[in-house]
Amino acid sequence: MKLSRSRLAAVGGVFLAAALIGFGLVHILVAPVVPPVVVRTANAHRLLSGGITAHIDRLLHERFPTSSTRPRLVALTFDDGPYPVETPLLLDELTQLHVPATFFLIGDDTKLFPALAQRIAGAGDEIANHTQTHPANFEALGAAAVRRELDRGAATLEQYVHDPAIRTMMRPPHGRFTLRTVEAAQRDGYHVILWSDDPGDWRAAATPSAIDAHVTRYATAPDIILLHSGKINTIQALPGMVARFRTAGFRFVTVGELLRTVPLSQILHPERLRV
Ligand SMILES: [Zn+2]
Repeated sequence: MKLSRSRLAAVGGVFLAAALIGFGLVHILVAPVVPPVVVRTANAHRLLSGGITAHIDRLLHERFPTSSTRPRLVALTFDDGPYPVETPLLLDELTQLHVPATFFLIGDDTKLFPALAQRIAGAGDEIANHTQTHPANFEALGAAAVRRELDRGAATLEQYVHDPAIRTMMRPPHGRFTLRTVEAAQRDGYHVILWSDDPGDWRAAATPSAIDAHVTRYATAPDIILLHSGKINTIQALPGMVARFRTAGFRFVTVGELLRTVPLSQILHPERLRV
């Protein structure tokens, strides 16, 4: 049988549509799930399993912004350090903008620059645990090693500053985690703080305007934004970002305040908003 040209085009179109739908489905099924937080008492398996219901839940909440009553709160989080050049510049900028933030500090770096950790605490910012040595392969560690990293990190930080978040909030190094490491941290008493937006500010190509554009495009209410302490581009992106969120009615808070004041269901299902 000879297929006419229009018939061929129609068949091709059907195949293309099927491929696109299939791709979308595969994307939903294999894309890693990043819940903004996995609190100490949460069922980590359910949150991280990549289950289709978790994905659909998120897609539904993210695709259809409404005029809901979700709290317009945004938590800026800064990983790593402290660093002798960038961290003071970052603190100056945050002070000038009157923006509180949450710092996930590394034990080894804090030992090198304890006065900077004290300056962060003195500014009223929150200090939480980013492990002692920031292992490259944190997600491959066993439960005992995870616990050792967290306990050593906390002990180091507590030599210089006092903050309950040091023993209750952690973020995995490199943002990489597995169910095993998350459950180990939970058993050690920690809420695992992930993010609702990762603008990739650690990349060399992340210019201030690219960071700003990302957080604007993926803004949610509430929002936990993953940033880094050692990046000049990130500091330069702050004034524009902060102004935009404030114009959209957002208030800046620490992660601790977010956890204390917003129902967990709303943190886990942030709503997409235009800022
Ligand atoms: Zn880190």
